Amino acid sequence: MTRYTVTTAIPYVNGRPHVGHALELVQTDVLARYRRQRGDAVRFQSGTDDNALKNVQGAEAAGVSVADYVAHGAERFAALGPALDVSFDDFIRTSSDPRHRPGVEKLWAACAARGDLYRKAYSGLYCVGCERFYDRTELTADGRCDEHGTAPELVEEENWFFRLSAYQDQLVDLVDSGRLRIEPASRRREVLAFLRAGLADFSASRSVARARGWGVPVPGDPGQVIYVWFDALANYITAPGYGTDPARFDQWWNGAERVHVIGKGIIRFHAVYWPAILLSAGLALPDTIFVHEYVTVDGAKISKSAGNAEDPADIAQRYGSDALRWWLLSEVAGSGDTDFTAARLVHRANEDLANNLGNLVNRTASMVHRYRGGVVPSGGDDNGEARALRHARAVAGSTIGEALADFDFRRAVEAVTAIGDAGNRYVEVVKPWDLAKGGDTERLDAVLAELVATGRDIAVHLAPFLPAAAERVALQCGLSTTDSLPQPRPVFPRLEVS
Ligand SMILES: [Zn+2]
Repeated sequence: MTRYTVTTAIPYVNGRPHVGHALELVQTDVLARYRRQRGDAVRFQSGTDDNALKNVQGAEAAGVSVADYVAHGAERFAALGPALDVSFDDFIRTSSDPRHRPGVEKLWAACAARGDLYRKAYSGLYCVGCERFYDRTELTADGRCDEHGTAPELVEEENWFFRLSAYQDQLVDLVDSGRLRIEPASRRREVLAFLRAGLADFSASRSVARARGWGVPVPGDPGQVIYVWFDALANYITAPGYGTDPARFDQWWNGAERVHVIGKGIIRFHAVYWPAILLSAGLALPDTIFVHEYVTVDGAKISKSAGNAEDPADIAQRYGSDALRWWLLSEVAGSGDTDFTAARLVHRANEDLANNLGNLVNRTASMVHRYRGGVVPSGGDDNGEARALRHARAVAGSTIGEALADFDFRRAVEAVTAIGDAGNRYVEVVKPWDLAKGGDTERLDAVLAELVATGRDIAVHLAPFLPAAAERVALQCGLSTTDSLPQPRPVFPRLEVS
């Protein structure tokens, strides 16, 4: 049996979830659901990064304890699972999950034993938003972080450093050879260029004072707390059992295909720091890192100050999780940012779901009721008119498989809409109503059977993308029930911007 472990990044909980988080969750969910449908054993992991310094600052600003603050924030992210039909198997919270700390300590000890952690006095410019140090050359002309638009603070202290520089050649070789696959190729080239420019060791701890006592203490050095990225990245192995459950870890990390889905802003941590830490600790690396772009909202980068960070749970409440998922999968580009507007979501849902797939399923069920009392005839149509439809049905499975192997979600969902297009054209060409009028019973049976089989195919192929809608289509077309169809009811509502 093939085992497949797929993860999202774990967001900081100091902000509210926005549509960018929904993109990552839905993309990862599609990969998980598709592999489950194929019969693989799947572990889909998400969670929250509770130990970041900005959570501490957020709690201070809100006047509550850090533990309460992160628990409340994490709930909003966990709630995206049911709201967006996202099928996590595991959701780890790094501050409270009993699996996390022992694994982080073990990881630290393994890197220390390799001689890759050392103490050094240091001063640098630290952006709390990014949780990283910046060189002056990496900042804007007026000395601000490009991601947050804020000026980093000068930090001077003695920290533990991780010997990243020792892994440059190995990392170049791994990425260049594709043994560590980074998708899309433009991101792989970006990582290679960064690696080849030379790697500096990074600070892997901070003083307890600067961390306000929050986070995992450095083993054997209680004055220091493990740097939040070292801690956060470890979630990928602590959740499957590193440091707590060796048998489970062996199954779901060592014995599984390992895929990380992340946003472009954190590629360096995942494609450089994380593999180096794993190499140092003698652990298996991820097989693939897929990097998605950003979603902007009404033309602007999503941010608290822009006031455009609408909770995707609210969007799903208003328009349905199917419509939101469909927009994320069918319109978000693999390169370059994509702008979200409610009007675009509504347009896409009406065009592809209500007018195309929904229309085909609905007219099929209606005709089976009108002409055959709801009972599906047996057989199918092997006349020439059905050729294009049969082709669309025949290639959909392999097209979806190939597209998802390339993380091309748009191409994958297009294979489903192509069936709808071909099906609706087929209805227009064969005109079942004329066959009924002309008393051509045999041909009408063949056409109706062909259309019902098409609807059932749509239900199967749609399932990884729109699980809730796929169930409605399956029910309407009598998939795995009987050959007597329920009364036709629209499977997709027509939406309006509200
Ligand atoms: Zn920043």
